[in-house]
Amino acid sequence: MAIRNIRELGDDILRKKSREVTEMTPKIRELIHDMYDTLYEAMGVGLAAPQVGILKRIVVIDVEEGVPYTLINPKILETRDTQTGGEGCLSVPGKAGKVTRPAYVRVWAQDENMQPYELEAEGLLARAVCHEVDHLEGILYVDRVEGELYDAEMEDDED
Ligand code: ZN
Repeated sequence: MAIRNIRELGDDILRKKSREVTEMTPKIRELIHDMYDTLYEAMGVGLAAPQVGILKRIVVIDVEEGVPYTLINPKILETRDTQTGGEGCLSVPGKAGKVTRPAYVRVWAQDENMQPYELEAEGLLARAVCHEVDHLEGILYVDRVEGELYDAEMEDDED
C-alpha cells in the first residue's frame, strides 16, 4: 500500500496531455494499485494518473464502494443528454462547482490486463468518467464550471 502525493491546481503537470499506455508492466500495475490506495485514502470517487504526477492515460473510478473501474486509454464513444450538478476534484481540495456533463456515456477502455471493454455509465459514474478523461487532456473541471467555485463539505462528492 502506497499513498501518492496528489498534485494540486497550479501544478503544470495537470495541464499536460497524457500518453497512451502501450503495454502493462509491473511498474504500471504498481501505479494503478497506488492510485486506488490514494483514491480511497482521499475519499474521492475518481483519480487520473496525471494527478499523481504520471502522464499516462490511466484512470481509476469507484463511485460505489466495491465497484472499481480501471480505465486505460479510455475513449468516449457516445454521449447522450446532459446533467448539471456539483462537482469537485482531489486536485482542487475543499472546493466544488456546478458543471454540466453528459447524463450517459459509452466508453471504450482497456483493463489492467490490457483487455478492451466497454462501459455504459449514467449519473455520477458518467460524470466521473468525463471528469477523469478530461484530466488526461489537461482539462480541469474549473475550466467548465458555471459560476463561482464554492466551499465543499467533506461529505460532498469529490472526483
Ligand atoms: Zn479531478
